[in-house]
Amino acid sequence: MAASCNARAEPLEEEKELREEEDEESLFAFPLQDDLEQELIRGRAVCGRCKRPSTVCICSCFPEKPVSMATRVIILQHCSEESRCLATVPLLQECITRERFHIIKGKRFKVNKFTCLQKAIESKSTVVLYPSKTAIPLQSLPSGASIGKEDDSALIVLDGTWAQTRAMFSQNHFLHSLKQVKLNGEAVSQYVIRTQPSKQSLSTIESVAHAVAWLDGTPEIIDVLLHPLIAMCQYQLEHGATTHFSKDHPRYMPRADFKRKHSTNSSGSS
Ligand SMILES: [Zn+2]
Repeated sequence: MAASCNARAEPLEEEKELREEEDEESLFAFPLQDDLEQELIRGRAVCGRCKRPSTVCICSCFPEKPVSMATRVIILQHCSEESRCLATVPLLQECITRERFHIIKGKRFKVNKFTCLQKAIESKSTVVLYPSKTAIPLQSLPSGASIGKEDDSALIVLDGTWAQTRAMFSQNHFLHSLKQVKLNGEAVSQYVIRTQPSKQSLSTIESVAHAVAWLDGTPEIIDVLLHPLIAMCQYQLEHGATTHFSKDHPRYMPRADFKRKHSTNSSGSS
């Protein structure tokens, strides 16, 4: 039942460990793009659909008609993620039909509170897209077979920062007994305004696009789903954002070094 799947999970007490991980993440990431976006939005008319300043609305990049997926997708979204201006799941929501797409918000999930999640977990065909040590390549599953087309199984995807999804996987034990799959690493992220841990790391919308393209046997869906993401990044880059390199890229610079360098440059030029 979709309604039950969109309910919020109860808040948790286990904040400390996660906060420590997020602090660690913030040392290496550049979470400045949301600040930039807030600054751009402040005082301006905002599009009711894409939630971006009306002057740079990206709604024209959404498909004319939402795309149907045969694979059922359940997003387990960290509750901090929805407040981010530049989150990618809202873009995904605008691109696809809703009947086979569910979002459950929280940190630790009580499976029996969410009908679609409970049914999915009871199905042997359900997989979780997470690069655990035991994850097998998604591409080892038959292309075109579509998960959840004939039953209640689903492709479960975790949505949050890398630290948050690590904690979500660790704390939600029901995920451990599911088959874990990972993308083959051939795709390169086009979400260039966020730092990724490695060049194989993808944002949530990219992960879903590539996974569904394989599972449904519809490679053309990748361009459709990533069109608004690319437009959003382009806009950010044109308004002061910098391209972020993954942490394993030779040009990657930790945030502290980045701030130090820019602070030195600005004091030197004044
Ligand atoms: Zn718009």
